[in-house]
Order: sequence, then C-alpha cells, then structure tokens
Amino acid sequence: MPQDAQILQAQALFQTTFGHAPSAQAYAPGRVNLMGEHTDYNGGVVFPMPLALGTAVALSFGGPAGMIQARSADFPETVKRPLGDTAKDCWTDYLIGTLQVFFEGHPPTEGLQITVATDLPVGSGLSSSAALEVALLRAMCQLTGRNLTPVEIAIMARKAENTYVGMPCGIMDQYSVSVGTPGSALFLDTRQLTSEPVALPDSHNFVIIHSGLSHRLSEGGYEKRVTECTAACAALEVEFLGDLSPADLHRITALPDPLNRRARHIITENDRVYRAIDALKSSDLGRFAALMTESHQSQSADYAVSLPEIDALVTGAIAAGADGARLTGGGFGGSIVAFVEKSRVASFTQKITQGFPNARVLAVT
Ligand code: ADP
Ligand code: MG
Repeated sequence: MPQDAQILQAQALFQTTFGHAPSAQAYAPGRVNLMGEHTDYNGGVVFPMPLALGTAVALSFGGPAGMIQARSADFPETVKRPLGDTAKDCWTDYLIGTLQVFFEGHPPTEGLQITVATDLPVGSGLSSSAALEVALLRAMCQLTGRNLTPVEIAIMARKAENTYVGMPCGIMDQYSVSVGTPGSALFLDTRQLTSEPVALPDSHNFVIIHSGLSHRLSEGGYEKRVTECTAACAALEVEFLGDLSPADLHRITALPDPLNRRARHIITENDRVYRAIDALKSSDLGRFAALMTESHQSQSADYAVSLPEIDALVTGAIAAGADGARLTGGGFGGSIVAFVEKSRVASFTQKITQGFPNARVLAVT
C-alpha cells in the first residue's frame, strides 16, 4: 500500500522525537483536480482524483498539559505551542486549527505529541494541506474513539482551513481526500455534498508535472479571487456563480473588468466539468482533452491564476505529445496535469524533462 512507507516514517520519527511509540496513526492522500478549478467555493461542481501520494500523522496524548509538540519530517525543529494558540503563520497552524475544530471548545487537559511524514510536494497544488488535516482527524478519531463520517471529517477540515488558517478555500480538497479512493476520480457537487465515481479511460494516463514554482510565491491571489467572485455575485444578485449556466453569459457583460472575466471563467469552467464527464462517459477522449486545454486558457486569460512559466509548460506539454493539459489546483504556481496516451508517456516525460529543467514529473496515474 502506498501509505505504508509514510506511516512507518511518521512512527519512526515519533519514536526518535518523543522516546515512545505513538498511540494512533493515520494517512490521507493528496489529490489532483482534473476539471473544475475555483468552482468549489462558487457552489459549483468539480472533478478531482485522490493520488497514491499522501501524508501520515502519528500521535499520542503526552507532554506538557494543554500544549502540542509537533514534528514534521519536512521541517527542521519540533514546535511546541499551546493548543489554544492563535494562528502564527507556522505549518503547525494546520494542526492547531484542526484540533480546535475537533475539540469544539472543549480541549483536553493533556498535551498532544504529533509527527508528520509525507511524500506529497508541499505547496504544489496537490492538497498537502487537506491531506494533513484529514490524516490528523482520522488519527484523532482513533485516539479518542470518536466516530466521524468521511463527510463530517471533510467539513471539519475545511472549517479549520477557512476559520483558523485563514484560507477561504472551498470543500473540494478536503472532500476528495477524505471521501475518495486513490486512483478513482470523483464527480463532486460541492453544494449538495454528493459525489459519484467516474471511470477513466484505460488508453491514457494523467501525468502530473510540478512547474518548479511554489504557489506561496504569490500569497493573497487566491483570497482576491474569492472576493472578486463575491462582488460579482452581489452585482448579479445570485447566491453563487455556480448557479449560472452558459445561457446566463450575456448577463456578465454588464460587469466591470475583471469581474466579467472572473464570472465567465466560473460559469464556463463549471459547464466544462459536466461536459468533460459526459465526454468520458461517451468515450469521446478528443473532446475531453480539448476541454482540459480550454480550461487552462480560461484559467489563464479570464481567471488570471496562471503564470507565464505555467502557460509555457502547458504549451510544451501539448507539443511533447499530450492530448490536453491544464493548470491544476489553486494556481499562481504549482502543477499542471497532462492527458497523455499511454504509448506516448515515456517520450512525453523525456521531452518535458529536457525542455523544462525546473519542471518535475510527480506522478503518472
Ligand atoms: P497545497 O495544499 O497545495 O500543498 P497549501 O498552501 O494549501 O498547498 O498548503 C501547504 C501548507 O500546508 C504548507 O506550507 C504547510 O504549512 C502545511 N503542510 C502541508 N503538508 C505538510 C507537512 N507534511 N509537514 C508540515 N506542514 C505541511
Ligand atoms: Mg491546500
């Protein structure tokens, strides 16, 4: 199982850091999004797939009362903070925020010792944050005997990220990571909180390529898009942009730029999710691939979440033999996902590696 190595690493790190074995350990995967970018906080639909890369958390009650002591294999030091601390722009915010939501204002008197290990690239658009939150909640359920459904875990994890970390994300990441299964793509309605698996073609792989640019480089861009969508909703007198369809596109021409382009991306992207799933179900892979590339153009020109280097990587991926390619995740750096016929994957990855020295192939799935 892909999670075994991460669990073993988190357990070993726990033993060396705290001098005893953990009482509980759990794992959650990262995800790639195949279609539907930024539609989740707009009440729309999305098409993510959990990956065979992910994060393990090991933990125990212990240490000083009311404190957490946390160590991640990716960070140099053990961090010690009060469980009731306010956010401090530290990676442990994700732990404290999630624990505060879990304990609902009734924190334990004991302390908590926690270790984290992952093979996900952090801050690359593959949901390392949701994997960390969901793995922690799963481990806390084990430790305390509390029973939470996967959907309840997703809702708690999103709440922690929204209210404590201060990242106004939708529920796609937490839902797909908590409810989904690695390798199985999910059509998710973020408003109804319902999902169904969608079969992927045997003939193709999705190749995930890191651009080499971490998305923390332009912090604040995501939040700005959320604010712009809220402003567009107010001007259009709708609750969510996801409530609109291509038949409503004429309404957005009255909006000032860039709100008109932001709204156009959400409306057309939401529609592309339905069309992409329809294309897959009718085995029209050419149409599916074209929708992926169209999605990238919309993210770049209308939603302005791409970067010149990412645009060049998408163009390069198509030149290297991908049938379609697009930015995946929140944007402003991060990763792209390319749809590549299996017989071409080897030459495709070779061309990408040669042509883009900063890019890294993360997964072929
Ligand atoms: P993404 O979810 O796309 O990887 P985010 O910016 O949403 O990117 O989340 C990345 C942040 O989550 C990191 O900066 C760090 O604070 C936290 N994080 C995720 N995984 C780990 C980990 N294994 N160890 C420590 N912190 C992590
Ligand atoms: Mg994240």
